[in-house]
Amino acid sequence: MHNKDQKVAIIGAGLAGLSAATSLAEAGLQVTLFEQDNLGGRLGGSGAADMGAQYFTVRHPAFRQATRDWQQRGWVAEWSPRLYHYDHAHGLRPSTDDIQRLVGIPDMAMLAAHLLGTSPICNTQIRQIQRSADEQWLLQADDGSVPGPFAGLILATAPAAAATLLQDAAPHLQQDVARVRMRPCWSLALRFARPLDTALDACFVRDGPLDWLARNNSKPQRAADERWVVQSTASWAEEQQHASPQQVVTTLQQAMGEVLGMPLPQAEQVELHYWPQARPAEELKWGALAAPKLGLYVCGDWCLGGRIENAWLSGRQAARALLDK
Ligand SMILES: Cc1cc2nc3c(=O)[nH]c(=O)nc-3n(C[C@H](O)[C@H](O)[C@H](O)COP(=O)(O)OP(=O)(O)OC[C@H]3O[C@@H](n4cnc5c(N)ncnc54)[C@H](O)[C@@H]3O)c2cc1C
Repeated sequence: MHNKDQKVAIIGAGLAGLSAATSLAEAGLQVTLFEQDNLGGRLGGSGAADMGAQYFTVRHPAFRQATRDWQQRGWVAEWSPRLYHYDHAHGLRPSTDDIQRLVGIPDMAMLAAHLLGTSPICNTQIRQIQRSADEQWLLQADDGSVPGPFAGLILATAPAAAATLLQDAAPHLQQDVARVRMRPCWSLALRFARPLDTALDACFVRDGPLDWLARNNSKPQRAADERWVVQSTASWAEEQQHASPQQVVTTLQQAMGEVLGMPLPQAEQVELHYWPQARPAEELKWGALAAPKLGLYVCGDWCLGGRIENAWLSGRQAARALLDK
């Protein structure tokens, strides 16, 4: 798309949507983002602790280059926790991995605000997309507005929302997207009056309801209070999706105590969040989906695998396909 006067809409301002927006803005296109909820999506809101993504790793050279720039700007920093593994058979074992882990500063969600910069964003849900008589895109927003016309459109939502939007507009893409399954996660944040007496800062858990736990204040530039984040496995979240919040909190706290090998003190503050579509069930290798004749592209971590890096790569790929049209 070489005409820089043509406008592009991006639905969804998670990492994938923001990555697409950055690439298009760098190419000089006019981009508007639409976000129904929190800027940054599954990066997690700006709450007491990182409730969504915990950190990210870097494999692809293009992502490495981008993250070096983010590090230089002070948007992200390295996190080197005292990392452990736990399973029932072996108990706690220190991790031997030396993988570089990066986190947003001062929380994961802030990375999204940095990436957005001064790009325009509308805080509304897009309910429908449709073609105008002159083959442009018109959006129907929850607030009653009809933004558009847009020459290009990128859907950067989770697959269920993308499938709904694609239903009438591009049924051939909709069929593939509707088959993608996402799995849930319960995420619990606990604030304690005093530091817990344990050597570990973070732990991958193999058995029981837990998948991960981390001392949030061991990450760089967090508040000093003792805060822990505990995240469940997808299987346990599926089993317990209708459980009461109290039940979930009690079970996850007990499991955390078991991993740390000590009774937990009473938490001063408890925050619980259910992510119905936390991560894709399988790693697809789609990159991004495209219907170039319609100027329509679809991206998200689920097109590559449920990690921040993949969300960024997928968004970038959608933007490139649009620019190459
Ligand atoms: C609990 C948890 C822990 C995780 N831990 C890690 C980790 O440690 N490391 C890692 O690399 N990754 C982790 N991930 C995965 C990582 O968060 C995701 O891969 C990445 O954030 C996905 O970005 P995205 O842009 O594809 O999707 P999202 O972040 O889901 O963005 C999609 C956006 O679209 C918006 N939207 C949807 N429908 C509409 C609509 N109709 N109109 C307007 N807006 C709409 C949503 O509100 C959302 O903000 C974790 C995820 C979760 C949930």
